[in-house]
Amino acid sequence: MKGTPVFYDTLTGRKKPLRPLAPPKVSMFVCGPTVQSAIHVGHARTFIYFDAFARYLRHLGYDVEFLMNITDVDERVTRAAARTREDPMAYSERMIRSMLADVRSLNIASVSRFEPVSRHFDEAIRQVGVLLDKGFAYEADGWVYFDTTKFTPWGRLSHQSKRDLSLRPLELSPRKRNLNDFALWRPEVLVEGRWKSPWGLGSPGWHIQDTAVTIPILGDRYDVHGGAYELVYPHHEAEIAQAESLTGAKPLVKHWMHTNLLKTDGLKMSKSLGNAVTVKDALRSATADEMRLTFLSIHYRREADFSGLGAARARLRIMKTAAREFGTGGDEGLDMVPFENALNDDFDTPRAVDWAERTLRVASKCSNKGEARATAAPAIEGLRILGVDLLAGP
Ligand SMILES: [Zn+2]
Repeated sequence: MKGTPVFYDTLTGRKKPLRPLAPPKVSMFVCGPTVQSAIHVGHARTFIYFDAFARYLRHLGYDVEFLMNITDVDERVTRAAARTREDPMAYSERMIRSMLADVRSLNIASVSRFEPVSRHFDEAIRQVGVLLDKGFAYEADGWVYFDTTKFTPWGRLSHQSKRDLSLRPLELSPRKRNLNDFALWRPEVLVEGRWKSPWGLGSPGWHIQDTAVTIPILGDRYDVHGGAYELVYPHHEAEIAQAESLTGAKPLVKHWMHTNLLKTDGLKMSKSLGNAVTVKDALRSATADEMRLTFLSIHYRREADFSGLGAARARLRIMKTAAREFGTGGDEGLDMVPFENALNDDFDTPRAVDWAERTLRVASKCSNKGEARATAAPAIEGLRILGVDLLAGP
């Protein structure tokens, strides 16, 4: 492996070196979408970023196992299916196919495995049972809740004090013992009561669905957990509480990485606010490369305002023109040091892209053709590593 990259870790609140549990393997889990509707460019920002990240780690020589779940059972999915008068499972299967098509259109090719959570409900039921046996959970009227007072580090990932947490009660219900307790099992029949459990018909809570997917596939502990920043609390906080209470292995995750919000006109882009631009719509007037370059030009920990893809279009055209003039592609033994230095420092993609752009500009000023080609090659290779092929496409 070349060098030790350093990335910001949400849990410790500082940059730290990536030190996988079993190098060269890096096990990585990223929260995928809930398929009540088509994915939008806010999702695309997160997924493109982690795709580029996995591609880069592979370039460094790591063997990345990249797992992404798909929430296919949820009240929102059931409600959406009712609107189109479809069976909820048939609806979610159709939406999964549509989501995977979007992922392919975005050239997100590094995910090793997509897992619809409904395939793992037996495991979720088993895990809820163990949490009850161990005294971390309690049952009330067909519901099972995680007792957050039994887990001392509760609030650590989101850096909240006891007082902060007291101001953010979860799932208001008279059945709960504590304000921050969250449901592990819900008696509500979300999808025609298909799941039988010792606590009656129902479905697993959203948070335990992730643990049900990751523990059997990645193990009790893994290297990187990624996702959008708004999932830190309570979703990822709950994952830590569940998994560490369940297995006793800690920490669950060595490196927590979160992408910041994508806003549009100052508001968070979201389906519920009605301001979401779907990936399908965005790709009608722009290319996947333009979208990727737009997001790579903004650091993943910064909020971004989505104001279209025009700036990336112009930038990409200039870079493609230069690359096609000098590029040969697929070169070995290139000097990638400035590129790797940028990415090894908390995955600074804007710096890496600026370097590539500058390098191509220098190449186009070289009077000697061979020199121009040698100058351009690492820039072309760098962008190819991040998923933008300057020598391909329109
Ligand atoms: Zn998740």
